[in-house]
Amino acid sequence: MADLFVCLTFDHDNVSGSISRGAVTPTAISRGDFGIVAVPRILKLLASHDIPTTWFIPGHTIESYPSCVAAVQRGGHEIGHHGWTHRVPATLSPEEEERELLRGIESIERLTGQRPRGYRSPAWDLSPVTIELLLKHGFAYDSSMMGHDYSPYQTRTADHVALLEPMRFGADTPLVEMPISWSLDDFPVFEYANRPNGILPGNMNARLAVENWINEFRYMKKHESWGVLTYTFHPHVIGRGHRMFMLEHMIEVLKTEGAKFVTMETALAEYRARYPHGVSLRGG
Ligand SMILES: [Zn+2]
Repeated sequence: MADLFVCLTFDHDNVSGSISRGAVTPTAISRGDFGIVAVPRILKLLASHDIPTTWFIPGHTIESYPSCVAAVQRGGHEIGHHGWTHRVPATLSPEEEERELLRGIESIERLTGQRPRGYRSPAWDLSPVTIELLLKHGFAYDSSMMGHDYSPYQTRTADHVALLEPMRFGADTPLVEMPISWSLDDFPVFEYANRPNGILPGNMNARLAVENWINEFRYMKKHESWGVLTYTFHPHVIGRGHRMFMLEHMIEVLKTEGAKFVTMETALAEYRARYPHGVSLRGG
């Protein structure tokens, strides 16, 4: 029987994303506050299907909404690192990035008593030193890159990238990538945002978005005997009633069609057991 693993992951940003972009008016803040309402709905749905999931939580959320994150922790879900602020690593100096990493680790340790094993960068844009910093601070996996759809793979460092030259690929590292995709993320399809660099229309019909997401699983099922498929949700986005109906529908369909819902840490262990030497995406 095929092993088709599905990771439901939640980026528990609440107001941290908005603050990192400088949007701090009361209404902007209230959009993140909606996480307070959404999280219990999501936890109830996950518990009713007995599904373990992974939550990437900024330190800012942990320290601003302690009862909200305590409920996630009590639900038995894995908790990963998502910055302390929600600033994008690619915009920080190496020193700032390391401070951010350490402060986020401390917040998670206070919540769970353990260091996080996984990291997901805010807004999915790593800096040239992120992989080295994650290795230095004992992380087992990253989940911010898009090089594969159905399999984890080994991250690289020190790629040589120059406009007028072919790629020269750096070495694979022990840090595993648990890949994601903007096409499997609720934020761009659902969240309306009016920003200085343009409007994100969002508000897609939830049935259509879920049809895409279910078909992503069906393609894996048709063509692969083993795989890991990762979806990304934000409580303050997916938690609206009409979207919760569709999330529930997706869970029911995938369950019926053979998905095994696991945390990222479990999916990582399955990957390591299947590929002891790792999967490499170095070109050449
Ligand atoms: Zn985020």
